[in-house]
Amino acid sequence: MISLRKTVFGLVAVAMGISLHQPAHAAEEVNVYSLRQPFLIEPMFKRFTEETGIRVNTLFSQSGLVERIKHEGRNSPADLLLTVDIGRIQDAVDADIAQPLKSDVISANIPEQFRDENGLWVGMTTRARVIYTSLDRVGPDEITSYEDLADPKWKGRICIRSGMHVYNIALIASMLAHHDEAYTKKWLTGLKDNLARKPQGADIDQIEAVSQGVCDVAIGNSYYYGKMLDDPNKAPAAKDVRIVFPNQADRGTHVNISGVALMKHAPNKENAIKLVEFLSGEEAQHMYAEVNFEYPVKPGVAWSDMVQSWGTFKHDDLSLNVVAAKRGEAIRLIDEVGFNE
Ligand code: FE
Repeated sequence: MISLRKTVFGLVAVAMGISLHQPAHAAEEVNVYSLRQPFLIEPMFKRFTEETGIRVNTLFSQSGLVERIKHEGRNSPADLLLTVDIGRIQDAVDADIAQPLKSDVISANIPEQFRDENGLWVGMTTRARVIYTSLDRVGPDEITSYEDLADPKWKGRICIRSGMHVYNIALIASMLAHHDEAYTKKWLTGLKDNLARKPQGADIDQIEAVSQGVCDVAIGNSYYYGKMLDDPNKAPAAKDVRIVFPNQADRGTHVNISGVALMKHAPNKENAIKLVEFLSGEEAQHMYAEVNFEYPVKPGVAWSDMVQSWGTFKHDDLSLNVVAAKRGEAIRLIDEVGFNE
């Protein structure tokens, strides 16, 4: 059983460019299945190995990892699953592939709002869902809150991706947590009525649409602004927009996480916990956030220069446990108002 497990992972390792010439009984290792791209995580894993001698094997895939782990069952070599968005994390938990991760180090490093109350997931970085406005056509304080997005003055001027995308579901779930259902439904209808076009594309496409004059206001995650400014082909479009952190006068901007879960049948559980503890620490937090223009989840860790240049902001301290619990209701509302139609 164990050798089969290693063989299966060995094949994966070859695909990932990892040498197969490892000791047959290399006990000190940890296997990470990641929906995050390798370049985002490998710098921290390298530092972890340097410090602990524990090798980190990674399997990257853009989709299907939850199903794969479920299918592998007791024989799964996966110790940890790395993914983004509370919705995708919750899907993994709902698939019953996770086990509680208990660690005093993690509890001390990661605020309660960014980890599961039962330890089934832990946030590793945060990202703000912000508003992007045209520098030319929208004044600096013309729109300051998510609630403003439903104001009829924006009719035909807003761009957004599908309402059913996990990023938007979480934002709408947060609206439900702060308002009642009737308000949220009216707000969502107002936002739909203000759209310049049917929801489509990804977050970067919305920023580009503002640059092209298709709309004046867009909704997107904060790190895409960094990615665009860092890409010579996309920087000109990013420079046409202003990044607005909504709700600074009240509850703060909605934030989501990239996160990690300890797998139920983790063969290297102790090493997996050590890796998550390492990732929650000061050095790894700075590196992890910097590489994707995100924010460290651990308070007090220095932000990257790029992210600092956008200014500080107050984030919503609503627990993502609450956001997760409201997702079902949010999906129903998005459907009811025909948001994507
Ligand atoms: Fe994204």
